[in-house]
Amino acid sequence: MQSQSGSVIPTWDVRETTALVPANESSVKKMLKRVRVEEEDEYEGSRKKRRVKGEECVTCLEEIEVGSTASQMPCFHSFHDHCINEWLKESHYCPLCRFEMPT
Ligand SMILES: [Zn+2]
Ligand SMILES: [Zn+2]
Repeated sequence: MQSQSGSVIPTWDVRETTALVPANESSVKKMLKRVRVEEEDEYEGSRKKRRVKGEECVTCLEEIEVGSTASQMPCFHSFHDHCINEWLKESHYCPLCRFEMPT
């Protein structure tokens, strides 16, 4: 009588660790810059053209309203304050360019 238990399936406890590491909270606070989203005057030739510079927040896909405050990453991408804070609790990459924040 011989029980064949040669093939042990390894239990991998190694998950995708690189992407889902939250950013270091105190670094986030230091590195995120609060910026005001402003209207921008643009000149086209001699004509003054008013352009609203509203950026889209890619984490919620909504526009960051002009006049509101956004959070800017060191890579100069801006997001809603609450959106990027939530995002950086799960990941330490910029959702746009994968700029790495300290973990
Ligand atoms: Zn947002
Ligand atoms: Zn970026």
